[in-house]
Amino acid sequence: MIKTKAFAAQSATQPLSPFEFSRRDPKENDVQIEIQFCGVCHSDIHQARNEWGGSTFPMVPGHEIVGIVKSVGSNVKKFKLGDRVGVGCFVDSCRTCASCTSGLEQFCSQGMVGTYNGTEKDGSPTYGGYSSQIVVDEKYVLRIPESIPMDAAAPLLCAGITTYSPLKHWNAGPGKKVAVIGLGGLGHMAVKIAHAMGAEVTVLSQSLKKKDDAKRLGADHFYATSDATTFEKLAGNFDLILNSVSAEIDLNAYLGLLKIDGTMVLLGVPDKPAPVSAFSLIFGRKNLSGSLIGGIKETQEMLDFCAQHKLASDIELIPIQKINEAYERMIKGDVRYRFVIDLKSLH
Ligand code: NAP
Ligand code: ZN
Ligand code: ZN
Repeated sequence: MIKTKAFAAQSATQPLSPFEFSRRDPKENDVQIEIQFCGVCHSDIHQARNEWGGSTFPMVPGHEIVGIVKSVGSNVKKFKLGDRVGVGCFVDSCRTCASCTSGLEQFCSQGMVGTYNGTEKDGSPTYGGYSSQIVVDEKYVLRIPESIPMDAAAPLLCAGITTYSPLKHWNAGPGKKVAVIGLGGLGHMAVKIAHAMGAEVTVLSQSLKKKDDAKRLGADHFYATSDATTFEKLAGNFDLILNSVSAEIDLNAYLGLLKIDGTMVLLGVPDKPAPVSAFSLIFGRKNLSGSLIGGIKETQEMLDFCAQHKLASDIELIPIQKINEAYERMIKGDVRYRFVIDLKSLH
């Protein structure tokens, strides 16, 4: 067993604190990764605070993991010592169901094995990337392109794929008007990727504070949702709306911004369900959908797309000791645009 240093939540109401546990020794198909950086996703907060229910403790959050291969099992083919690699939101799945065999492991019929707050097939709990190292089957390990700096690559493993996948699925591209609600970790990647795909991008943010940033990230238009006239001005305007807000918002108001046959995709997962009126959908044959991260093949495709278009995340690097402060700042929307933990101090 490999002794591993980490930060963990011991319960839903306690701040994260130092924690030690053991990782399994690499099996024949496993890659042992020394974690360099881990992004801080809002899902880490939701789960560490048990906002979705069913959290298990102690919890070591973190599913935007990048690092260097330290050792490989005897049967590993894709990776060698020293390779730059990443791990996203899941570390295993059944591998045989229709979803798994078609590259949609996130929808595995047996349930994917979450990188943390999950259970391995042998029944042991999974611990995530707020730690010094991780051991993962090579099938669930991604390659980080050389041209992307490791710290700015980390958030691509969740925020990147969670926005790339729906943008691709709903054909964001030239001639398409795409709106992004919420300019946080997911939102800022949605803007960069949609812009790179050639779509006309609008940011819908609570205030005008992030307007200059949004333009720099690639947005064509920016509106404050605190201004009621925004909803009049933009009525019937968008082909696609990505909702990346971590809190409850009035979905009906935003559905009014879709064109006929337009689609709003829910990415954010607030703790309470939001009411949707049939009237918001039937007038204009509108679609309300959702999207969950992305499969391994598509995640690699997204990383390569980002390298090709020179995209990465805008980050604020923090030591792991600042994680509780970072959570508070994220809840206030005070992050530009992703906290990334430098795990050096745990090595
Ligand atoms: P984040 O960095 O905290 O960004 C969320 C943004 O939402 C904020 O920056 C803010 O943008 C806006 N916002 C926050 N509170 C709001 C409120 N009360 N009213 C209106 N807008 C508000 O979070 P994130 O890491 O991007 O994650 C966003 C959500 O997606 C979370 O719920 C997370 O769990 C979920 N998620 C889902 C998936 C998936 O696969 N579907 C994957 C990852 C994360 P402005 O300042 O611009 O208004
Ligand atoms: Zn995430
Ligand atoms: Zn499966």
